Amino acid sequence: ASLDPVMQDSVKKRLRLLGPAYRLFYQNPVQVSRGAGVHLYDRDGQEYLDAYNNVVSVGHAHPRVADAICRQAHTLCTHTRYVQDGILRYSDEILSTFGGQLGMSGHMMYTCTGSEANDLALRIAQHHTGRNGIIITSEAYHGNSYLTAGLSPSLGARSPLGTWVRRIPAPDSYRLPSKDMGAWFADCVRAQIHDLERHGNGLAAFIADSIFSSDGIYAFPTDLLAPVAEVVREAGGVFIADEVQSGFGRTGDKLWGYQRHGVDPDIVSMGKPMGNGFPVAAIAVRPEIVAKFGGDMRYFNTFGGNSVAIAAAQATLDVIRDEQLIENAQRVGVFLRKGLRELQTRYPQMGDIRGAGLYIGVEMVKDPVGKQPDAALASAIVNGLRERRVLISATGFYANILKIRPPLVFSEDDASRLIEELERVLSNF
Ligand code: PMP
Repeated sequence: ASLDPVMQDSVKKRLRLLGPAYRLFYQNPVQVSRGAGVHLYDRDGQEYLDAYNNVVSVGHAHPRVADAICRQAHTLCTHTRYVQDGILRYSDEILSTFGGQLGMSGHMMYTCTGSEANDLALRIAQHHTGRNGIIITSEAYHGNSYLTAGLSPSLGARSPLGTWVRRIPAPDSYRLPSKDMGAWFADCVRAQIHDLERHGNGLAAFIADSIFSSDGIYAFPTDLLAPVAEVVREAGGVFIADEVQSGFGRTGDKLWGYQRHGVDPDIVSMGKPMGNGFPVAAIAVRPEIVAKFGGDMRYFNTFGGNSVAIAAAQATLDVIRDEQLIENAQRVGVFLRKGLRELQTRYPQMGDIRGAGLYIGVEMVKDPVGKQPDAALASAIVNGLRERRVLISATGFYANILKIRPPLVFSEDDASRLIEELERVLSNF
C-alpha cells in the first residue's frame, strides 16, 4: 500500500537527515507524538496498543518517573566525582537485589547505555584474566561500540566479528531435545574454550542474555547457565550476565533473568528499562574481578550515573516495587501465553509459543512438523497488526519469531485485545 503524502515526505526527510543505517518499523511507519501507559498516539491522536516497548517498562510517560527527573533537573545535575546521596542509596538498594557474592560485596559502575556497560564489563574481564577470548551465543546482540559490535552477530551477516570471539549455538528448545540441554550447552562452551586456548590466549569471559532475545527468545529450560558458569570458572574466565533485556522484572518471577537459572554471575550488565527511557545503564561487579582494573586505571563517564540519571533509576525501581510489576508481568504473561496457545489450536502455523513473564516469542512456521521458519508470514502478521494499531515486532535469525514484549503495566484486557486482533490478522492467511 502506498503511504500518504505527508508520511512519504517525513520518511524521505528522515532518510536524508539520518542516513541509511537506521531502520524503520512497519511497511506503513507509525509517526508517534505521545505516549501514556501501554499506549502510543500518532499525530492524528489515534491510539496504538504498544506490545513491544520494554524500555518504558513502567509505562510511557509515567508521572512518578517524569516528576523525579524534573525535580532533580531543577535541583542539580552533575557527575560522579562529587559525593551525592542519591547514587549511594540507589547502589545500595540495587546491589541488595542480586543476592550471592554480588549482593554482599559488589560494586556498581554507571554508564549511559547497555553497549557501554557491556564494553566496560568485557574490558574489566580481559584485564582481570590477562586474556581476550569471549564466548557468545550465535545470534547475540551485546551493543554498538567497537568492542561489543564485534560480538553482536545479529547486527548483520557482514558485520565483522572480533577474531577473539567464539560462538555457541542458541539453545533452540523448539528443535533440540530438552533433556540434558544444560550438559550439551556446557560442552559447546568447553569446545570453544579449547579453541580459544589453541588459537589465542584463552578465555576472558562468557557473556549471555538469559532469555536469548536476539537468538529467538528461549526462556526454558532454565538449567542451562549453571553448568556453563562452572565450565567458565574452571577455565579461569568471567561469567557475565547481560541483563539489558531480561532485567528489572521482565521475566516475571524475579527481578533478574539470570536468577531463573540459579547462577551467581561475576558481572551483571543492565540498561534499557533502568530509567524508563532516561539514559542510564550500569554494571554490578564482584570486587576481586575489578580490583586490578581499578588499581591500574581510572574510570569516569561524564553522564553515566549523573544526578538526574540516578533520580530516574530510583523512581523506576520504586514504581516496579510499589505497583508490583514483577507479579503483574508473571500473571499477565501466563494469561497471554494461555490465550496464544488457544489460538495455536486453530492456527498451526504458530509452531511454538514460549517465553517468561512479559517476554514472549511465537515462532511462525510453514508447517508444524517440518518446522521450517516462515519469515514472510511473521512479517505479514507484524504489519497486519500494525494496521489494526497493535504494535509488536519479529526476531531470530530468520526474523520469523513474533516478539511480544510490552511495558510491564500491560493488563489482561490489553492481552485480550492483542489476542483478538492477532486472530483477525491470522484469519486472513
Ligand atoms: N545487550 C542486549 C542484550 C541488548 O538487547 C542491547 C540493546 N538492544 C544492548 C546490550 C545494548 O544496549 P544499548 O542499546 O543501550 O546500547
